[in-house]
Formats: sequence, structure tokens, C-alpha cells
Amino acid sequence: MKNQIMFVEVANIPKQNIITGYQKQKWKDKFQAYCDKEANKSDCSPWCKCGYMDYCDYCRGMANGNPCAKAVIEMCARNKKEIDYTNLDFEKFLEEL
Ligand SMILES: [Zn+2]
Repeated sequence: MKNQIMFVEVANIPKQNIITGYQKQKWKDKFQAYCDKEANKSDCSPWCKCGYMDYCDYCRGMANGNPCAKAVIEMCARNKKEIDYTNLDFEKFLEEL
């Protein structure tokens, strides 16, 4: 019974209000890890999965912080596209950009 009440309370919170700084950071870290993993698969270096070679510092060899994530977030802001920070399916995310 207690679990049921908890579920209802969580479900009633509007989606955009549950995105916290922590969640954003987690998304950035995971996105960067995904880019790094994809980049390592490739023979040509530097190369990165975020696909923004002209914008991405990572592709220009300045890999500090989460440059691929930053590049993608900046790009989304420029295109007025909202990022769903709960979505960790990056392959799909990049396809839809
Ligand atoms: Zn990149």
C-alpha cells in the first residue's frame, strides 16, 4: 500500500521539474562516455560521435570537461531544440538532431 502511494506522487510531478543539475551532469558524463567509446571504435583520429567537428573542442584536441556534450548542448540551444536529459539512448538522440 505504501509503495502504491509513492508511485502516484512521483507520477504527478510534471516532467520538466524533475530534471536536476545532477541529472544534467549525469547526462553530460554519459553522453561524453558514449562519444569517447564511439570515437575509439574509429580508426581515424581525431573523430567524435557527436558529429559536430567544426564546433566540438574535443575534435580539435582540447578534451577537457565534456566537450562533445557541450557542443551538442550549444547546438541544441542554437536550434531551439530541447534536450530530454532523461533520455540516455544517445544513438537515437543523435539521429533525431
Ligand atoms: Zn564531439
